[in-house]
Amino acid sequence: MVSIEELIFLCFLSATLLFVMFHIFRFRLLLTGLPRPARRSVGMLPLLAVLMPANSALEFSVAQQSRSPVGYGLELTGFIVLAFIIVNLIWLIRFSPKPQKKMIILALGAHPDDIELGCGATLLRYKVEGHETHGIVFSNGEGGLHDPQLKNCNPRKREAERGGQVMHLDSLTVMEFPDTKLNTKQEDIMRVIEECTRQLHPDLIFTHNRHDLHRDHRAVYLATMEAARRVPTVLCYENPNTPSSFQPNCFIEVSLYLEHKIKALKCHASQHISRPYMEEDLVQSLARVRGGQARLRAAEAFEAIRFTL
Ligand SMILES: [Zn+2]
Repeated sequence: MVSIEELIFLCFLSATLLFVMFHIFRFRLLLTGLPRPARRSVGMLPLLAVLMPANSALEFSVAQQSRSPVGYGLELTGFIVLAFIIVNLIWLIRFSPKPQKKMIILALGAHPDDIELGCGATLLRYKVEGHETHGIVFSNGEGGLHDPQLKNCNPRKREAERGGQVMHLDSLTVMEFPDTKLNTKQEDIMRVIEECTRQLHPDLIFTHNRHDLHRDHRAVYLATMEAARRVPTVLCYENPNTPSSFQPNCFIEVSLYLEHKIKALKCHASQHISRPYMEEDLVQSLARVRGGQARLRAAEAFEAIRFTL
């Protein structure tokens, strides 16, 4: 038999569990980085919150009689769910990767969608693991607008900012250097990167690669090489127009973060009609191929200019 005090306590416990659930889902970043078993156990919390008071209410209603099989069933299920949650949380605490040192990471892109395409999932993974992530986009991408009506009110800056929010970047700066003419502003871009590295002291920079056929991308790569000479690690990412001479030697596992990369890319709505490389299956396939090359489920691939462990 359950006393009225116990019933009140169980209702209080259920309300607390629902409150915890609400906060966990509110801080989706936490949930994003959880391995699948831990995500499953978090998903079980509402079930427990329903089962426990249901069991108590049943017991309370049949207090004068012997306990029914339904009551035993509910109680047993409640215990199994609780044990499942505890085992998974122990697993999470035991095996979750812990960053040894907080890193400051800076991602550079010529156009508003370059960072997402090249290293979007990696940036989110680093953020979830407790590092600090920043981004600079050097042009507002007006050259990539095919709809003449959009030229008057270029939406690409807003799209980049929304993409940055999906990747949970600590900061994103979108600059106004002339799109498709960044090679004429390489000196200025170099100064921007130099100033930024002086202020942030990044441990790791992501930038375009030297093989890229787009002159804006190459301009950002060359400016980075000059400005980031004191940065310990510089990794070059690939874009859809990167030629096959790109030979990655660094792979970062991103299977947990791929759906968020696709979500960030979807923020660039103005590009989806005219750019087949933004398509979801293409992004998934490239990540699978790169993952396969490094015996991982899915990965983003980089050419390391400098890699400091
Ligand atoms: Zn680009």
